[in-house]
Amino acid sequence: MFAYRLLFCCFAALSFTLGLGAEPSPATRAIARETRATPEEPGITFNSVHVDGPYIAMTFDDGPSATLTPKLLDLLAAHHIKATFFVIGENVAEHPEIVARAAREGHEIGNHSWSHPNFGKMSDESIRRQLRQTDDAIKSATGKRPTLMRPPYGSITTRQKRWIHDEFGYNVILWDVDPNDWKRPGPAVVRARILKETRPGSIVLSHDIHPGTIEAMPSTFDELEAKGFKFVTVSELIRMATAGPSHPSPQPSGVPASTTRSPSPTPSPASSPGG
Ligand SMILES: [Zn+2]
Repeated sequence: MFAYRLLFCCFAALSFTLGLGAEPSPATRAIARETRATPEEPGITFNSVHVDGPYIAMTFDDGPSATLTPKLLDLLAAHHIKATFFVIGENVAEHPEIVARAAREGHEIGNHSWSHPNFGKMSDESIRRQLRQTDDAIKSATGKRPTLMRPPYGSITTRQKRWIHDEFGYNVILWDVDPNDWKRPGPAVVRARILKETRPGSIVLSHDIHPGTIEAMPSTFDELEAKGFKFVTVSELIRMATAGPSHPSPQPSGVPASTTRSPSPTPSPASSPGG
């Protein structure tokens, strides 16, 4: 009886969702086009990934930093943790040896633009230059081109995702855990927020340019390990994807999570300057 009811509820929810999808108002359609991954773009955008197992991806943005990134690399090595770095091209050009070290030690390097502008407000040509220059800088530092991109501030339109994916082959990586470490709330708060929000399949955002973030990491890693989490790179996490809903995003989404694609609106720079 319970199983039957559950099935009925699922069916009712599905019908409701499909019903909404069939006849959206023009306004709803416009918003959906702008902010949501659509069924035409499977597997391009990820906030989190549905996985069978306690796997998560730690991501560090906006580096490399001359002093903090090497410190973080030491910590990661001590914990045998593989992470993903979304680097700024300008910083790669300044410290290619740090990016080379990160890649050599098994971490993944992703493109986070040349100078951290807001893609949502830029021409295709300017975005193309930002991505191309950074792609080249990463290739020259590590010998490998990146396959992941994270737009600064998480700001990107659905149309931009599409052509960037077509032209560069990038998956667009957002996040589902955001400790807001760029506001420098102190290591204890950064750690507490990450521990509270992280679930299997989570993509955790933080920045290796803030001292408090690096200070938070030893105990954050210890406690995540104590909870049984295993750390992989973002591409490894995506390769582990299994069918089924990713866990609900903490961001308000308005639609049920149904695939590994991003179900939630793209964070706007005004409300979410993370990334
Ligand atoms: Zn950033």
